[in-house]
Amino acid sequence: MMFYVIGWVAVGACAAIVAGAKGRSPVGWLVLGAFFGPLATTAACFMPAVIRKEAPPTPIRRICPHCANEIAPSARLCRWCKRLV
Ligand SMILES: [Zn+2]
Repeated sequence: MMFYVIGWVAVGACAAIVAGAKGRSPVGWLVLGAFFGPLATTAACFMPAVIRKEAPPTPIRRICPHCANEIAPSARLCRWCKRLV
């Protein structure tokens, strides 16, 4: 009986390792692997890897020294007060 429990946990650990390598939650997949055994490990193997998208860099804005409004970084003329910056 103990052998089956250890084997079942080992299968869960395999699912956790595979899922963790693919960017998924290792703890969640350890629990799934402990419940579903080889099915969870097989599912983790065929699951696509998670690709995390990073937020696009926000454009850096400048502040007009005359009116203190936001202007484009490459602006030479403030669009608010029409003065050269
Ligand atoms: Zn201005």
